[in-house]
Amino acid sequence: MTQETLHETFVALLRDTYDAEKQLVKALPKLAKAADNEELVEAIRNHLAETEAQVTRLEEVFGIVGAPAKGKACKGMKGLLEEGNEAIQEEDKGELRDLAMIAGAQKVEHYEIAAYGTLRTLAEQLDLSDAVELLQQTEDEEKAADSKLTEIAMTIYESASDAEEDEEDEEEDEEQPARTTAVKSRGEGGKTRTAR
Ligand code: FE
Ligand code: ZN
Ligand code: FE
Repeated sequence: MTQETLHETFVALLRDTYDAEKQLVKALPKLAKAADNEELVEAIRNHLAETEAQVTRLEEVFGIVGAPAKGKACKGMKGLLEEGNEAIQEEDKGELRDLAMIAGAQKVEHYEIAAYGTLRTLAEQLDLSDAVELLQQTEDEEKAADSKLTEIAMTIYESASDAEEDEEDEEEDEEQPARTTAVKSRGEGGKTRTAR
């Protein structure tokens, strides 16, 4: 395996990733609109700004290896985005759609983490230390974006189960008004539940 072969592999993956990031720049505004949870909307907008910077970083890496900044259609990202779109169409705006979007977005992040991991390793093998640093930065951002999505999913699950408990409380109100009054004075503001 010659350095030249490695170099070609590196540039090919660079082109694929460049196209993938550009597809994302186009798709993310639509995702932000489809999202309901405010934290999710903000996270998507943040990641859009990051993704634009990632595109620029890739252009810098093209410069470092002396190749033209040219994308090559990334079918993987296209497929992931198509699936994500289906989820949006199938659900109305709300928690279920948000969770479906998060699931799709996390697949996207993992796809990117894999691509940047390989790109960084190739850059290391090719002794392109400036490129290694740029690629590592992006890889770290993708990982942070992934963790943030997990966090938001957890808050959505929590608020969904709180809402379900409130609903149960209301049902109890109707059935046993006297007992519920006692429960309320004890459990107010907290998540503590009394035995039934
Ligand atoms: Fe990215
Ligand atoms: Zn691809
Ligand atoms: Fe990303």
